[in-house]
Amino acid sequence: MSRHASEHVVGLHGAGGEVMGELIRELVLPRFRVRAAGPVGLDALDDGAVLTPPPGELVITTDSHVVKPLFFPGGDIGRLAACGAVNDLAVMGARPWVCTLALVLEEGFPLRDLRTIVNSCAEVLSELGVALVAGDTKVMGRGEVDGLVINTTGLGVAARVVTDSGLRSGDRIVVTGPVGDHGMALMAARAELKLEGGLASDVAPVWSLVARALAVGGITAMKDPTRGGLAAALNEMARKAGVGIEIEGAAVPVRSDVRGLAELLGIDPWQVACEGRVVLGVHPDTVQGVVEALRADPQGLDAVVIGVVTDAYAGRVIVDTGVGGRRFLDMPLGDPVPRIC
Ligand code: MG
Repeated sequence: MSRHASEHVVGLHGAGGEVMGELIRELVLPRFRVRAAGPVGLDALDDGAVLTPPPGELVITTDSHVVKPLFFPGGDIGRLAACGAVNDLAVMGARPWVCTLALVLEEGFPLRDLRTIVNSCAEVLSELGVALVAGDTKVMGRGEVDGLVINTTGLGVAARVVTDSGLRSGDRIVVTGPVGDHGMALMAARAELKLEGGLASDVAPVWSLVARALAVGGITAMKDPTRGGLAAALNEMARKAGVGIEIEGAAVPVRSDVRGLAELLGIDPWQVACEGRVVLGVHPDTVQGVVEALRADPQGLDAVVIGVVTDAYAGRVIVDTGVGGRRFLDMPLGDPVPRIC
């Protein structure tokens, strides 16, 4: 009889012995690309992986994911953990290359849910050709962790790194799609709100979008508007570059159901996290080409110019309200929606 017969995570699953080995051989190895990144891959189950990086700049990022609930409209923590890693690489201009996966599980967690979650993670990585090169499994007692925490570390390779501090006066600000979907979908799921039209997270890998934009050229800065949403991303980009950003309020795409729920809850949708969008600074000469290239991607159909970079109001973001008013867009104090990633 399989030691998984209980179909729930037990302490031994994190104990480094046979039971854990069985779990890894069943759950991880067949689902991920575990070779191809160097002489010693995850399939060797050695103490570490040995990697041979392709030419270019090596970019690394890490994130721990504590999203609640673990399953939400549009995705789950596995998809989110994979996208969290690869998207931070992408917005640095790096093609995602390899990834690690560390699971911290609560004893009693259903193995069926774990399989689904790990599969979601594998799906994103294999879509991008990203190899899984290292992993870890730990189990904590009941009540010591809320179900499951996932840490991912990603490495990517960039021909030319794009930072979030490169904006220059005259650049246009582009966003690749509607903002606030992820955070509002989670809010709706938590409140068990049944919404018409099916509000869903935008969680998705953005590398294909980024690659299209980079191929056109003139990209001066990039950022993924995750925690703190568009408002935080714009403020950070303005501060770091010491420039002002003027946003045309009416141009910022927000889905009507996101707007509706945000109003109901008293939340600014511009402060709500996205997990599949990119904010770009683009040179005016190439901006039209970049927007067209983004719109040629199914994920970038609503890509649009929302503003311009100026010398005035250095470090600040100004919104033209469209009714003759102008206001500062402040840096959010924190995320209005906790545990969204
Ligand atoms: Mg980021």
